[in-house]
Amino acid sequence: MAVRTTPCSLWRAVPHDALRQARLALDRGLDRLDPLGARTCPVFFRADDCGVPSNIWQEFIQLFLLRRIPLAPSLVPAWITASRWKILAAQTAVAPGLFAWHQHGRLHVNHEPSGKSMEFGPARTREHKRQDLEAGRRRLESLLGDAFVPLFTPPWNRVDGETLELLVELGYAAVSRSRNASPPAPPELPDIFVNVDLHTRKEPTPAAAWTGLLGELESGAAAGRLGIMCHHQRMNRAALDWMAGFLSLLAGHPRLEPAAMACRKSAKEKDPPGHPRLVIIA
Ligand SMILES: [Zn+2]
Repeated sequence: MAVRTTPCSLWRAVPHDALRQARLALDRGLDRLDPLGARTCPVFFRADDCGVPSNIWQEFIQLFLLRRIPLAPSLVPAWITASRWKILAAQTAVAPGLFAWHQHGRLHVNHEPSGKSMEFGPARTREHKRQDLEAGRRRLESLLGDAFVPLFTPPWNRVDGETLELLVELGYAAVSRSRNASPPAPPELPDIFVNVDLHTRKEPTPAAAWTGLLGELESGAAAGRLGIMCHHQRMNRAALDWMAGFLSLLAGHPRLEPAAMACRKSAKEKDPPGHPRLVIIA
């Protein structure tokens, strides 16, 4: 498996006042966004590498379900099966509208012989990439039916320009990568980018990782948009506990607005009653 499952170093040495530090960083950013305090900041969560209903997964999604906060899980088509989907759907049946189930890399493997890891990069032909996108989407559509949302999150947040063109050709509503990803997405394909990384940080020490995370929270709030990337497989107890506190902070903060990384399937479709509004933040 090309996916790491050891806990991110950030969560091996958590400061005792980690939530307070996060709140202060967010408030500093919100003050930069609007010193008068009128503007709010949408916050959405994307969860990568999904499809296996493990124990940590179940604990992770309960945090969102309890507080009715939307989550966009990207499913690896090769990992999801009919029996696994049955479990995921049952786990989320109390509030299915909260979840924007969408497409991740079909096998979640790197095809590049050198350099940065990519499943949809220049080492493969356009035709191979097209076949992979189509096969992954067919599998998810056949298993999930109407629960599938036509968004694409590439593994490692990286795709080449050919793949962006293919996503347009194949009718995807949006792609989701990291902030400032290149090449830029074409105008008809919004990039619902993330700008906060909770579980795959690469700083050399936990202290440096905390500083990096707090910086991302502040600058995201200052920019008026927080897209938070989660990897439940890299979480431990400390990461779950912090996330519980962070989601409660978010739910009770007057200037942070939980948002769904989702799209309407047609212009006529209305937001479901009783759920947070559906938005594409491009
Ligand atoms: Zn991934």
